Amino acid sequence: MLQIGDTLISLDIIERQFICDLSLCKGACCIEGDSGAPLEKHELAELQKVLPLVWDDLSPEAQELINKQGVAYIDSDGDVVTSIINGKDCVFTCYDEKGICKCAIEKAYREGRTKFMKPVSCHLYPIRVTKYATFSALNYNRWKICKAAEILGQKEKLPLYKFLKDPLVRKYGEAWYEELELCASEWEKGNG
Ligand code: SF4
Repeated sequence: MLQIGDTLISLDIIERQFICDLSLCKGACCIEGDSGAPLEKHELAELQKVLPLVWDDLSPEAQELINKQGVAYIDSDGDVVTSIINGKDCVFTCYDEKGICKCAIEKAYREGRTKFMKPVSCHLYPIRVTKYATFSALNYNRWKICKAAEILGQKEKLPLYKFLKDPLVRKYGEAWYEELELCASEWEKGNG
């Protein structure tokens, strides 16, 4: 376990190698699982703001559910998470021509239609953050749907923390990430 300020970082995040391989997993993390994507407090308002911009990309089932319960709900752990259809697909999913599941919000962001990319928990996945009273724990949520990403990561020798540099900087800032890089290179020296 590494510590930077009030974050505790699992060694898996520097030891394990990972690159999402969408051609094989088809974006399954937006579909599988029994809860929606965790939202930070301010993100609920962001989702409401972006909703009209992405509405036409959403499935009729998603539109119906949003009309009934909104873009988010409180899950069994008490967390505010994105709404999901029949316990599976996030309401913000859409599909590209290759049948790969994509985030409609990220699609709008890449097309320059919004400045909000997607919830930071989605951006950080497969790192999951658990908040405690005095610290946050960052763990690699290892899941069989990401098997192809581990294989590609090993082939390209890219550690998870490097693959997720952008979302880690988004969440914790440049200085925090530089410290993580230092800790990782110290760790690599001792274990390389
Ligand atoms: S996190 Fe896993 S399931 Fe999601 S896109 Fe990456 S490899 Fe695929």
